[in-house]
Amino acid sequence: MNKEIAIDGPAGAGKSTIAKKVAEKLGLVYVDTGAMFRGIALYMTEKGIEANEPDRIKTELEKIKLDIVYEDGEQQLILNDENVSKSIRKPEISKAASAFATIPEVRARLLNLQRELAAKRPVVMDGRDIGSKVLPEATVKIFLTADVKVRAERRYKELTEKGENVDIADIMADIKNRDEQDTKRAVSPLTQAEDAILVDTSSLSIDEVVGAIIKIACEKNPEFNK
Ligand code: C5P
Repeated sequence: MNKEIAIDGPAGAGKSTIAKKVAEKLGLVYVDTGAMFRGIALYMTEKGIEANEPDRIKTELEKIKLDIVYEDGEQQLILNDENVSKSIRKPEISKAASAFATIPEVRARLLNLQRELAAKRPVVMDGRDIGSKVLPEATVKIFLTADVKVRAERRYKELTEKGENVDIADIMADIKNRDEQDTKRAVSPLTQAEDAILVDTSSLSIDEVVGAIIKIACEKNPEFNK
């Protein structure tokens, strides 16, 4: 049995915060796959390419080199030798990432990278299709969700704490739009894998969710305890 944990769910459900803590406690590596889609979206946007231009996207994909490295335990995304970990967090890139994530060639390219990373060492990987597509053999699969209003409030708090001037109505609209795009796309849509455990985080604290996932993991594979 492997030591892989797949965490999927919609935007703002708390995936990255929770996945990071679970990884820390169990001594695993945290891989944020959303950052990779954001990296592609950043590159294409800077080149003036839109998601409805498949031919240009295919050509440009060949010029992209993405690397994941860790600095003080934090994942960094390196796009053609430049650390873009901050610029991929802009709201316009969130929107673009969801649009580019519908393109099969983009997904195929990132699928390889994601599987390579998981093959190197045990991971907690979060995204939209990790349990259903990227790591279908993961020992633990969690589908994290929360009420859309709660998700919008969390994102608002996170961004305002970083000093960003944002409007909660815009955040809510963006989350709804991304939910729709992510669940309705033809390739690898956001979906709960058959064997994933549903965790609704609307009224749970971060520590409660982290504790629940660690308990599930150690019950499934006692090696997680070592
Ligand atoms: O998780 P995050 O919000 O950073 O992801 C940005 C976008 O990338 C998502 O809205 C989704 O469209 C896409 N994504 C995906 N599959 C993944 C991870 C992210 O389609 N495994």
